[in-house]
Amino acid sequence: MPRPRHRSRSLRRVHVRLPGGDTVVHYEKRRPGPARCAICGRPLNGVPRLRPVELRKLPKTAKRPERMYGGVICPDCLAKLLKKTIRGQVLQRLQEARRGAAAAQQGAATA
Ligand SMILES: [Zn+2]
Repeated sequence: MPRPRHRSRSLRRVHVRLPGGDTVVHYEKRRPGPARCAICGRPLNGVPRLRPVELRKLPKTAKRPERMYGGVICPDCLAKLLKKTIRGQVLQRLQEARRGAAAAQQGAATA
């Protein structure tokens, strides 16, 4: 019979094979849920589901994708965001160019 505190299912049971061939049960805290996209909430790939203690043992490159906003937003949301941003910048440049051309025309008309 396990110890009374181990009869609860709040700890996960890990069967560990010992060097002598015996199998024993280790009781560990459960893993956290998957990391999710900050925009759409989709689970993120490439982010390990580990407790902070275990995460500390991993290299930085194993903890999140090496992409901008890797481990924060999903690739689809990032692509949408980048396209939106770039489109906004292009429109702004076009507007500035049009304004510049109009000002130059006015200047030519008055002179
Ligand atoms: Zn997303």
